[in-house]
Amino acid sequence: MSSADLFRKYELPALPYKIDALEPHISSQVIDVHYNGHHKGYVTNANATLDRISKVAKGDVASYDIQGLIRNLIFNVNGHKLHSLYWQNMAPSGKGGGRPGGKLGDMIERQYTSFDRFKQLFSEAMRSLPGTGWTVLYYDAETGNLEFTTFENHFMNHIAELPVILIVDEFEHAYYLQYKNNRNAYLDAWWNVVNWEDAERRLQKHL
Ligand code: MN
Repeated sequence: MSSADLFRKYELPALPYKIDALEPHISSQVIDVHYNGHHKGYVTNANATLDRISKVAKGDVASYDIQGLIRNLIFNVNGHKLHSLYWQNMAPSGKGGGRPGGKLGDMIERQYTSFDRFKQLFSEAMRSLPGTGWTVLYYDAETGNLEFTTFENHFMNHIAELPVILIVDEFEHAYYLQYKNNRNAYLDAWWNVVNWEDAERRLQKHL
């Protein structure tokens, strides 16, 4: 049995739109490097880590650092899964942005008093993220609340079992080629491509 037989591999999912579909808000150059470079890299490195873990499982290696393997796996698998969400959470220019309808719109207005207030608070959360990471909207079925948090890097502050409804990539690779060090300009532009219908579908699975 080859080591690939023990652990099945991850695959890079197709982008849900053309590479220039988010122009002018997010340039095709940014998406190209982000998707074909970074996201693909997380998939490649997650699979390489799985290969290594397969060899460990089979007793084929003399020594290994189990915490290092776990850390590598979490970084790269979360990198892969978070990016898959991020792509789907955006819609082509002209089709995204605006305000959410449906249950999501109702819940946002009930909990945050208005969409504008929610947008202000979510923007404050995005802008406050120190360094590298993500800003995330969660749904907690236990309370019925929508809550937001930030992930530092790929793996901090994750509340177990809570489904992500909406997510924003704030790594420099998500904006630097277009917006340089002006992260806030990228975050302002991101609102124009939010796919509220995708966020609503994610929420509906848990209501
Ligand atoms: Mn990224």
